[in-house]
Amino acid sequence: MKVLVAGGAGYIGSVTAVRFAEEGHEVVVLDDLRNGHADAAGDLPLVDLPISRAGEVLDETFDLVVHLAADALVGESVEQPEKYWANNLGEGLALLDAMRAHGVGKIIFSSTCATYGQPETLPITEDTPTRPVNAYGMTKLAFDHALSSYAVAHDLAAVSFRYFNVVGAYAGRTERHEVETHLVPNLLKGAAGQTFTIFGTDFPTPDGTAIRDYVHVVDLADAHLAALAVLEPGVHHIINLGSGGGYSVREVLDAVQEVTGHTIAVEEAPPRPGDPAELVADASKAKTLIGWEPTRSLKQAIADAWEARDA
Ligand code: UDP
Repeated sequence: MKVLVAGGAGYIGSVTAVRFAEEGHEVVVLDDLRNGHADAAGDLPLVDLPISRAGEVLDETFDLVVHLAADALVGESVEQPEKYWANNLGEGLALLDAMRAHGVGKIIFSSTCATYGQPETLPITEDTPTRPVNAYGMTKLAFDHALSSYAVAHDLAAVSFRYFNVVGAYAGRTERHEVETHLVPNLLKGAAGQTFTIFGTDFPTPDGTAIRDYVHVVDLADAHLAALAVLEPGVHHIINLGSGGGYSVREVLDAVQEVTGHTIAVEEAPPRPGDPAELVADASKAKTLIGWEPTRSLKQAIADAWEARDA
């Protein structure tokens, strides 16, 4: 297949692009590097344009767009919602229009568990009510709705994957955010000598710290390959990508200390605004619909990220 990976110079996008190429697909990366890094595209052709100008690269030879181009900082989205509506929804709609104009009828989209907000019941299924609590989750949910309506009206074949917490590294590609907010990269900085801050020690969880569902980035990328089998004109599938199990912040902290062999200096702080106590996926739909289950452990992800960091 000829595939345009929008956002393919970012963390998850670059791993996904590499895995598609390794499986024999012809991959073109579209990324204007506002959040991505050119070297993450590696040997793959990189078109340095925003997704709003996807019409300049797409043509009828493309079969599929994998769309992972987005702004993805929850806190920033609360302070600057206009940026998230413009980039994640407005530019995304331009990408859909470019696909229609060039007859490209298949899309796999990186949605998020943030579309569910703070659910009342766990684990989170695809039928859990979507009540996002920040503009990041709202704009991703809005794009999911756009895909549903384009599927009905324009015969688009679409899959939205609702990612839970993505960790790990592959082939030198790892998390490299200018402002690092994520748990595992911050713990790795802790293992390298910085003080690590636990946000929230009073949650109603067994050890008082927040629980999340962590998935290795390679397992996640491979779900996109598995989704090719269910892309069907007029149908929009929404699928959670999680492991179905959760780890607390303290459990991840212990795992990072064990894997790296370094003791981490820890301080405790209040929870970040809006951080839920626990988010864990019901991952059964991914298994039944596309035959996908994660196979790599949290410790494997930590080891891979630690190695990529040293590289
Ligand atoms: N967290 C933390 N310290 C950090 C970064 C994150 O205690 O330096 C906690 C955060 O409060 C949350 C969990 O780790 O409970 C996962 O945070 P992350 O930002 O990685 O993902 P989120 O689930 O918020 O999207």
